Amino acid sequence: MKILVVGAGLSGAVIARQLAEAGYSCHVIDQRAHPAGNCHTERDPETGIMVHRYGPHIFHTDDLRVWTYVNRFAEMMAFDHRVKITLSGRVHAMPINLLTINQFFGTAMRPDEARAFCAELAECPDGNPGNFEEQALSLVGRGIYEAFFKGYTEKQWGCAARDLPASVLKRLPLRFDYNDRYFAHKYQGIPRQGYTDLTAGVLDHPRIRTELGRAYRPEMRSDYDHLFWTGKLDEFFDFRLGDLAYRTLDFEEFRYQGDYQGCAVMNYADADVPYTRITEHKHFAPWESHSGSVCYREYSRAAGRGDTPYYPIRLAAEQRMLAGYEQLAAAETHVTFLGRLGTYAYLDMDMSIAAALAVAEEFLARR
Ligand code: UDP
Repeated sequence: MKILVVGAGLSGAVIARQLAEAGYSCHVIDQRAHPAGNCHTERDPETGIMVHRYGPHIFHTDDLRVWTYVNRFAEMMAFDHRVKITLSGRVHAMPINLLTINQFFGTAMRPDEARAFCAELAECPDGNPGNFEEQALSLVGRGIYEAFFKGYTEKQWGCAARDLPASVLKRLPLRFDYNDRYFAHKYQGIPRQGYTDLTAGVLDHPRIRTELGRAYRPEMRSDYDHLFWTGKLDEFFDFRLGDLAYRTLDFEEFRYQGDYQGCAVMNYADADVPYTRITEHKHFAPWESHSGSVCYREYSRAAGRGDTPYYPIRLAAEQRMLAGYEQLAAAETHVTFLGRLGTYAYLDMDMSIAAALAVAEEFLARR
């Protein structure tokens, strides 16, 4: 049986690895010159800093199986992601925790007091927040929402926060203690040699042939018995139902001698600052030491067809279009769609790996 995997990101690599270990030969292609998709990392030639080329990636999961899986292929270094946010020239801690609340309101509340205070500020007309804005208002009230979420979110997504689903905000914790870790997951880390090395390790198997810089063409299909597609779902069907909307990112690189901002990620809340955040890459590897520094200012905008897709938007119109594409996908008996682009889902790295492991299991169980 001949298998083609389109896309050498985490999803494609994991599916290929699982099938290869089960005895199948897999041909993996990717149009880019590197594996790992948008979690690609590489060392900056001038400074030696490991740069997250497509923006910050921190591995975080509660899934022991996924954590064990990545640890087979990479040395995962402990990394606690702590994000700061600049608002009107002052720095606060993100996600919202007791320090953020006390600094923002100029108070010294204890946890129970802050909880009661936020409950008092909360606006939740019918007790059932239906979108991002209502979700935020129901948790922290208008002051914190407008300061920390509205501007950032509208820059990031290019639409009104009230048009976004509440699920986007649910990615972030809200804490009434001084825990300022960005993620609450049990296992968190960053591979010492980067994600590209990790992904290359997953692909390193005698029954996997990986071809980089090779774009998919529909004629290729007839040479294979099964295709795993991790590219854009709409692209596979030649955009026949329309374009599923994505946000893309532009990174403006700059260099600094020393420590530019003292942390890996500084968000910018103000609507009139055009970028959403600045990433200082050397802080993703606190076990290394570099005197120079490489930083990215990150700008978000609507993706055109030629742009790198990052965030599926999934508003009501896209949901309807997605349902149409999902119907087309379900009718394809020799093609399986997976990954962030293949399923048009806001998947984190661990979720992509878990999904690919499940797809592989299901595929193998049917043979
Ligand atoms: N968000 C915000 N202010 C922040 C950080 C996040 O309003 O300082 C919102 C924003 O809408 C973002 C969402 O919370 O898209 C989820 O944030 P997360 O950090 O999970 O986004 P990602 O890392 O995937 O870009």
